[in-house]
Amino acid sequence: MPELPEVETIKNYLKRFVVGRRILNFENLNKKQIKVSENDVVGKKILDIERMGKILIIKLSGNKNLTAHLKMSGQFLYFPRNLEKGDLKYARAIFKLNKGYLVFNDVRKFGWLRVGNEEIQKLGIEPFSKKFNIKNLEKIFKQTKRPIKLVLMDQRKIAGIGNIYANEALFLAKINPQKPANKLTKIEIKRLKNSIIKILKRALKYEGTSSRFYLKPDQTKGRYQEKFLVYQKTSKDCSRCGKKIKKIILGGRSTFYCSFCQK
Ligand SMILES: [Zn+2]
Repeated sequence: MPELPEVETIKNYLKRFVVGRRILNFENLNKKQIKVSENDVVGKKILDIERMGKILIIKLSGNKNLTAHLKMSGQFLYFPRNLEKGDLKYARAIFKLNKGYLVFNDVRKFGWLRVGNEEIQKLGIEPFSKKFNIKNLEKIFKQTKRPIKLVLMDQRKIAGIGNIYANEALFLAKINPQKPANKLTKIEIKRLKNSIIKILKRALKYEGTSSRFYLKPDQTKGRYQEKFLVYQKTSKDCSRCGKKIKKIILGGRSTFYCSFCQK
């Protein structure tokens, strides 16, 4: 699932490709996923693209916002040319712009696109905001004995971190993913905070992880999958101590860690 670095990368590309364009036509190809009608968007200008957590916000003229969640396999692709049949195999919504097309693709059909900000209000702290500080993290972690990894992935607490970057940040911070959140020391919280920022920035630099469905709007892949520290590295040597990386299932999700250097 696209996480903060992937959605931020999509945002950056869409800012370049579609901001300032006008929507000439709109096709909704799956009304279950796409809660947007022609009336909501046709004739509107795309003023800006923003991101909160894993949610993409498309700001339109007339004070209308669209929000989108890509879930498992959603993609926003931009085509500067005319569309061909092969482009639209998994298309769920098509925006015809005054230059090019913006297509919402989704193989698995869990993603959504809708009008309004409702879903954004449920989100927790944004990692690249001032609120992402030791004091607030201490407050969040103290409230629960759930494993720290599951707390990091809880979008109502911290927005934007999913399975890949939770694994990576905990490795960098040398914290066991199963450790109860309320047992973290202040030093560990500080290390975790810095590790989260470091990993997210690094993933952004490589424009996200294309291990499965994720593509950038220009249809090229991100490269962070070439830089994984622990994710999907079962039985490989830990880059820090040389012991084998372990895989367990935590909260139903694959969890990768080094049991020697993550305490
Ligand atoms: Zn190790």
